[in-house]
Amino acid sequence: MGGSMVGNDPGKGTVTGGVTRLSLLAPLDGWAAPLEEVPDPVFAQRMMGDGLAIDPTGGTLRAPCDGVVIAIHRARHAVTLRAECGVEILMHIGLETVALGGRGFTVHTTEGAAVRAGDALIEFDMDLLAREAKSLVTPLVIAGGPSATVVAAKTGVAVRAGEVLLTLLVQGRGSARADGAGVARGSAAGAERSLVLPLAHGLHARPAAVLAAAAKPFAAAVHLVAQGRRANAKSAVAAMSLGLRHGDALTVVGEGADATAAVAAVADAIAAGLGETPVPPPAALPVPSLPSAAVPPPDEPPALEVQPPFAPGETAVIRAVTAAPGLALGRAFRLEDEEVEVPASGRGAEAERTLLAAALKRVRARLGAAVAQSEAAGQAQRRDIFRAHLAILDDPELLDEALAAISGGEAAGVAWRAATDRRATALRALGNPRMAERAADLIDLRRQVMLALAGREPQPVILPQGAILVAEELMPSQLSNLDAGRLAGFCTARGGPTSHVAILAASMGVPALVAGGAAVLRIPDDAPLILDADRGLLHVQPPAEDLARLERETGQRQARTEANLRAAAADCVMADGTRIEVYTNVGKVADAVKGVAKGAEGCGLLRTEFLFLDRQTAPDEDEQAAQYQAVATALAGRPLIIRTLDVGGDKPLPYLPLPREENPILGLRGVRIGLRRPEILRTQLRAILRVRPVGQCRIMVPMVATLDEVRAVRDMLDQEREALGHAPPVQLGVMVETPAAAVTADQLATEADFLSIGTNDLTQYVLAMDRGNPDLAARLDALHPAVLRLIRQTAEGAARHGRWVGVCGALASDPAAAPLLVGLGVTELSATPPAIPDIKAALRPLDKAACAALAREALAQESAAAVRSLLARAGMAVSVMEGAA
Ligand code: PEP
Ligand code: MG
Repeated sequence: MGGSMVGNDPGKGTVTGGVTRLSLLAPLDGWAAPLEEVPDPVFAQRMMGDGLAIDPTGGTLRAPCDGVVIAIHRARHAVTLRAECGVEILMHIGLETVALGGRGFTVHTTEGAAVRAGDALIEFDMDLLAREAKSLVTPLVIAGGPSATVVAAKTGVAVRAGEVLLTLLVQGRGSARADGAGVARGSAAGAERSLVLPLAHGLHARPAAVLAAAAKPFAAAVHLVAQGRRANAKSAVAAMSLGLRHGDALTVVGEGADATAAVAAVADAIAAGLGETPVPPPAALPVPSLPSAAVPPPDEPPALEVQPPFAPGETAVIRAVTAAPGLALGRAFRLEDEEVEVPASGRGAEAERTLLAAALKRVRARLGAAVAQSEAAGQAQRRDIFRAHLAILDDPELLDEALAAISGGEAAGVAWRAATDRRATALRALGNPRMAERAADLIDLRRQVMLALAGREPQPVILPQGAILVAEELMPSQLSNLDAGRLAGFCTARGGPTSHVAILAASMGVPALVAGGAAVLRIPDDAPLILDADRGLLHVQPPAEDLARLERETGQRQARTEANLRAAAADCVMADGTRIEVYTNVGKVADAVKGVAKGAEGCGLLRTEFLFLDRQTAPDEDEQAAQYQAVATALAGRPLIIRTLDVGGDKPLPYLPLPREENPILGLRGVRIGLRRPEILRTQLRAILRVRPVGQCRIMVPMVATLDEVRAVRDMLDQEREALGHAPPVQLGVMVETPAAAVTADQLATEADFLSIGTNDLTQYVLAMDRGNPDLAARLDALHPAVLRLIRQTAEGAARHGRWVGVCGALASDPAAAPLLVGLGVTELSATPPAIPDIKAALRPLDKAACAALAREALAQESAAAVRSLLARAGMAVSVMEGAA
């Protein structure tokens, strides 16, 4: 590029005959150099676009023209402006500065802001960059928009911010944001591949340029779809503006003639690291991206109401949500969340920064040791939780916010507490129970870092033998520090059944309840408790005779449970000869093995999504076939009902990003996704058709609401069978989980070979109560007469066409409910393995007529509680307490 300069309207475009002449001003004081001299091939080879670079002598980056700020990188080292004529200008301060995670940069503008030429955009700490970055050289490149040619540029000279640096001739106008990020559209026919971003610093400028270079040779339109947004992969700026972070799920979508090759090339390039060393995400467990501090969080969830403690001898039953099954008798041990005292005022920013860094280092070291110990002990879930905590601790935005508060004069502890609290509140307020559960992880890390700042080590809690711990919320690190040998169980006021602490409890074999509400906080220390985690009940200060009876009965029940287990292998035949099939639900191969050991006669629900939860990429047909075959083999020829992928709603999959929905529980779920993304469903159907022996598998479709959906799946299945050389017919069943499916069961039964009632979802939709909402958990009871009436209607509809009806929701695992379900017309129950022996034992002595009479009475009850009392009075079933094994 020459050294002369053209243009006399600095910072603005002048238009002649459809061509705009745009002069760009130097954004920095420094030495202007051609791009070839930038020690980074992405810029030097103009993969990102044409332009030049400045080796800065001043630390303020200014707007080179009038325009709109269209992207500021999360790490604050890069900003993109769109000029009036549509040209997009990227300025990237220094090289490899993304790794600073925002340290050393102060942003003076916001995305979407209109700026004038010369306005300050970002200030940067030149000393810090000189020490820690690869280079201070700052490329300025034309990264997008309409076609533009550099006609003059100053290079090889010193420049001052504000003087004209570069002149462009721009053809026509860019179509604003045609290539930018936008709301995802439904995927059209074409190719696509889902994967997880393996870049430690996210999709920043350099890898985005490599990505665009990989996409550009293809005629097909190639887009990245992530978090409900979509960006043209051929535009580095658009791709960058998705703001993807390490571990984020994304889908590469191609449309056009060479879409398959384009998607493969782009996805392979991403998987290979886009010029960086790919780093697998740190944790198998989903680590949420923390809500941005820039967006004020919605209202904080209400604090739990403080109520007086239960009086001595006052009895109560608290309904809560089962986090880990089992029964425990013991005394309450209240775990109060001790407030860690830290100095309220700082000793100067530098000193406080050092303190925070040292505290973070200590906590990191402790977590690292916990990862190593768990690894050595073969405790993968525990290891992944600690890894997830390490990842949260390293979240640059969390750290940035704390550091910014320190720079503003706060003490390290105050700054850290505010930053973690703010994000925990935002997570809880998202309205997504899974995200809310992650808030506990943040609070845990808040506490650990605060303790480290106070110079203290977390002290193990000394539990009395047989303690039942009660707390507002229990943190994973607290639970893992407790002496499991002394802990009989726990119940928390908050939390959810899929929280890390619930997973830990299950892996430790500790019965646990969560989401018990404010009443849990009323339990006095040392109060006698019965924790019935199988039924979701905590009995507070039960009458002495109940306690004594329970203790006496425990031994007898143990003996009966053992007897039930000995008889479990035989088929379930009732006294009048009615045959009821008792199957097991399976989420992983080991469940099938466990189920068979407990007497399962088959698998009534294979939740296929659970087989592939812990991975970051979608399983291909071979992998799926291998997994289904493994379950089939574990069942040793017994029937296997495979449910097609049931994701969406409360079940996100890391490798299947779905558009953000206002109301996901009523959105793209189950079969709706299968029909919207037919390749996913077809792949799964093909994999199932490959399982041997032929005939062992049946297929079941989740979340059906209309007959059309069943017909569409049937068509697909027929086509895939034909493609496989006329594979033999396979039974196709429908899950009854929507009220629509229940009331039109007679119609569905014309297409379906069998119906299986998913009482979990059916109850949620019938009662209009979110199954993941802890505040409603106590009232979400599948024994509600409205649900029972729909079960009867389903059974009647199916019977008209000679189809059988099963139940695979959680109600099927309640031995007390088994006679009622049989009375309503159900002939198959698919339960959790521990419940199977008791279900068989409960049904064998009964006859169908007695069950039908019981069902008639239940249908006339006015509430779920009344139905429960009826079942208890009927005394037909063994207590569910025996179900835990
Ligand atoms: C149900 O809804 O009852 C069911 C079995 O499906 P899932 O719990 O997997 O949604
Ligand atoms: Mg369901």
